[in-house]
Order: sequence, then C-alpha cells, then structure tokens
Amino acid sequence: MSEGARLAEAGPRVRPPESAQGPVEGPVRTCVGCRARGHRSTLLRVVVADEGDHVAVVDRMRTRPGRGAWLHDDLKCLELAERRRAFTRALRTEALDTSRLRGEVERGGAAGSRS
Ligand SMILES: [Zn+2]
Repeated sequence: MSEGARLAEAGPRVRPPESAQGPVEGPVRTCVGCRARGHRSTLLRVVVADEGDHVAVVDRMRTRPGRGAWLHDDLKCLELAERRRAFTRALRTEALDTSRLRGEVERGGAAGSRS
C-alpha cells in the first residue's frame, strides 16, 4: 500500500493513451488485477512454481510452460487479483500461496530481471 515502491522507469507507462489508432503493437496481455491491458513487457508473468506446489512466483524469463497470469508490477494489482481470486482462476489451481510473489512485487518484481 505504500507508494514508495513505484519504479521510475517501468511505472508510468502502463496505460496506453487511446486505442483508437488501431491495435497496440506487439503482444498485449491483460492484468489479472486491474484488468487493464498492457504490453507484455510491462507485465509480470506469474506461474505456479511446481506442479502440486501451490506457490506463485514471477516467471522472469517468461518461458515457463503451462499457464501464466499477467500482472502489473504493482502491489495494488496484486491485492486486487487476490481479492477476486483471479490467480486461482487464471492458473487453474484451487489454492495459491502468493506470499513469495508478494515479496517479489514489493521488492520490485522486474528490477532483478535485467542482466
Ligand atoms: Zn494491473
């Protein structure tokens, strides 16, 4: 809930101005939290860590097989998604531990993926 974690680089451009000019270029995904659409690169891909292990983690390489849920790198979106059980629906799992995911988002989920 603190605004302090906002990323200077990746934060502000999650909302495209108007989509009247045709389709957005590149792959677009819908955030499971706020339901806004954004370019793939502005969203985190969330997957279940292992089969049978109901722990949600960020798929940093975006290459994990199986189902993924897309989420803005924003605690508000994470909380929205939790409240409406969007992860369990998107990932087809009955229970999901999002504490580890939350930790990653709090630290700035995308920040560590630059190499
Ligand atoms: Zn969102």
